[in-house]
Amino acid sequence: MRKVLKFGGTSLGSAGALQRAAGIIREELPRGGLVVVSALSGTTDALLRAMEAASRGEREAAREQAATLWRRHLGVARDLGVLEALEPLWAPEFQRLAGLLEGMGLLWEASPRARDAALAVGETLSALLVAEFLNAQGTGARFADARSVLKTDSHHGRARPRPEALRQAAGPWRQALEAGELWVTQGFLGAAPDGSTTTLGRGGSDTSATLLGEALDAEEVQIWTDVDGVLTADPSLVPEARPIPAMSLREAAALSAFGAKVLHADALAPVGRGGFRLVVANTHRPDGCRTLILREAPPRRPGEITSVAYKEGVWALRLPAEADLERLADAAFRLQETGAARYGLLATPEGGLLLVRPETEAARNLVEALAAEGLQVESGLAVVALVGEGLREGRGRALAILANLHAEPIAGLLAGDTGIALALVLPQERLPLLIPQLHRHVLES
Ligand code: ADP
Ligand code: ASP
Ligand code: MG
Repeated sequence: MRKVLKFGGTSLGSAGALQRAAGIIREELPRGGLVVVSALSGTTDALLRAMEAASRGEREAAREQAATLWRRHLGVARDLGVLEALEPLWAPEFQRLAGLLEGMGLLWEASPRARDAALAVGETLSALLVAEFLNAQGTGARFADARSVLKTDSHHGRARPRPEALRQAAGPWRQALEAGELWVTQGFLGAAPDGSTTTLGRGGSDTSATLLGEALDAEEVQIWTDVDGVLTADPSLVPEARPIPAMSLREAAALSAFGAKVLHADALAPVGRGGFRLVVANTHRPDGCRTLILREAPPRRPGEITSVAYKEGVWALRLPAEADLERLADAAFRLQETGAARYGLLATPEGGLLLVRPETEAARNLVEALAAEGLQVESGLAVVALVGEGLREGRGRALAILANLHAEPIAGLLAGDTGIALALVLPQERLPLLIPQLHRHVLES
């Protein structure tokens, strides 16, 4: 099995985008392979809004949101000329969604398990669509449900994979794909040990692609998105950000851990374990720049900064010096269990500080509970990081840049054990000015 191609929602927004994606699939996978797809752009957000309405008891609003989603999907299928073939395959999915929303509306509650079941409809519709569209073009493609191989634990909303179980379950997939078949599957979804549907966290389709690449012994995994690869900064804050032609796995891992949304934070671990290349490319410009992520770094000059990343929505939990530090360690452990991302845990003579991003509802509830137990909580923070292999041999300049930001950091410098990232925690309202300012230093370095 040679290649796994993943298309994000941004590559699957309209009939035109789907046609481009199909062209790339035909070009890249002439002798078969695996295609992993996200839901059509905006679908996961729409599903979450419908569930929010349902859990407030607003059943009519939830129904209306689901109907809008249904109409949009039907419209895309019609534009692609595959409506007739798809309707019978899609209808049971929509019925399931309607039933789940109705149940949530009656209970005024959307449990994490029910939420995952409803979210799965988005990826399933798009995988069925891509498979059917490829078929209609004479490329014999087949839909395969990711939940039969992507085995996870039972943390609904932010499930963690079980790579051994995954590899075992993937046996039949490996055989079929090696025989030259072309399969299309859902990103983002997994199956808990009890068989219920799980999701890998927002943006998790990247991780599905690399996990499947690892389990199927792929030579290359390609992430197709809406930018020319991994850039020197987030283009929504820095329009002049430039593509990075090649970077090390460590750099990519640090960037995504510190917030660069282009790759999901869990997507890099399977690349380290497996022996495949990772490529990030632009569906809208297939012949444009792309990023190659390699196990070993291309040479960087000492002090060279490759990229700047940030993540909003970080919270600081503080404990006074006289309090028992075990409470903070215990909070860190419990938050990790709820799926919160951790950015720092500091114990100084002046007290303790824990920096987290509570990404799931369980994590937010726990932060509230910890606040009620007396931990001081501050929200509205962001972590900002400079990343580059060059920082291992020359940090002076990067340290000076961060020290001269003229912003009072919430927490001093955070550095991981790889030595290639330096980070600072600041109020997030400073980001629109700070990120472009930091980026100028990246280009100068
Ligand atoms: P997809 O739907 O393909 O998964 P995402 O929206 O999840 O796409 O990720 C791509 C987006 O990531 C880009 O459109 C860009 O706005 C954002 N992004 C943030 N930081 C970076 C970066 N350093 N390089 C490239 N894109 C970035
Ligand atoms: N559709 C999911 C999301 O929007 C997963 C993904 O796009 O990777 O988060
Ligand atoms: Mg994404």
